Amino acid sequence: MELYFLGTNAGLPTTQRNVTSVALRMLEERRSSWLFDCGEATQHQILHSPLKLSRLEKIFITHMHGDHVFGLPGLLSSRSSQEGSPPLTVYGPQGLKQFLEVTLGATQSRVTFGLDIVEHAGGLIFEDEQIKVEAAALEHRIESYGYRMTEKDRPGSLNMELLREWGVRPGPEYGKLKNGESITVDGRTITPDQVLGPPKRGRIVTILGDTRPAPGIDPLAAGADLLVHEATFTDEFADLAQKYYHSTAVQAAEAAKKAGVGELILTHFSSRYKDPEQLQPLLDEARAVFPNTQLAMEHETYPVRPAQDREKD
Ligand SMILES: [Zn+2]
Ligand SMILES: [Zn+2]
Repeated sequence: MELYFLGTNAGLPTTQRNVTSVALRMLEERRSSWLFDCGEATQHQILHSPLKLSRLEKIFITHMHGDHVFGLPGLLSSRSSQEGSPPLTVYGPQGLKQFLEVTLGATQSRVTFGLDIVEHAGGLIFEDEQIKVEAAALEHRIESYGYRMTEKDRPGSLNMELLREWGVRPGPEYGKLKNGESITVDGRTITPDQVLGPPKRGRIVTILGDTRPAPGIDPLAAGADLLVHEATFTDEFADLAQKYYHSTAVQAAEAAKKAGVGELILTHFSSRYKDPEQLQPLLDEARAVFPNTQLAMEHETYPVRPAQDREKD
């Protein structure tokens, strides 16, 4: 499970950075990736990345501002030209359905795969045996949401040495033990607790849409291993942040600290910060409040590590 940033800029693209989009890659866990927001030219960014359109399983839209959705019709059209693309679900606030129907309809774009568009107003968005997605409203000029992904606990590792010693070969028997079933081999009954390590705790990733400090952030981010928070401005422009319903890097760090997250990644930078060096003050200001902070860099990968593992590093 890892994050791959495709766009980290607010409002408009610059020559250095594209508008917002980030992928949650879960190739090991579910052989697919999820996309969060899809600013214009996200598909071009994907061409320069290890991501594949056909492997996209879900797209979550935080809010309907253009810098977060203008890339969606183009991306869906391009995915349609790839034969055999599996179904895809797009989740987002009210207006998403109309936006896609109008843009795809007016351009007579044919979607060749099963496209499900789900409008929501927060709450439980998706759940299966692996993961749960919840959303809650933030505070922005228009309806904006954050998403909290909670991975379910996974079975612990099998003690291979002991199993080999007892004559159990890799195969279906291993699966049974992992599922909590006992097996019998050569007249010996082996119970899962004899050979199975402690369960691996599921990770929590929270990705927020545009927002200024809001009560909805804390429950979404509480105890998350990784929080992605917008940081449009440095502290110097706190008044602008307030006025335009955005956050400063310090406010993002304060939210991370309050929620007790493992790690904070800042994104959605104002285009006033043109060069990478100009982003350094954002990082410095945030780290003064919450040390385990990083800046989102496009085409870079950020593994989602359980917070307790990191302490051992
Ligand atoms: Zn934005
Ligand atoms: Zn916005």
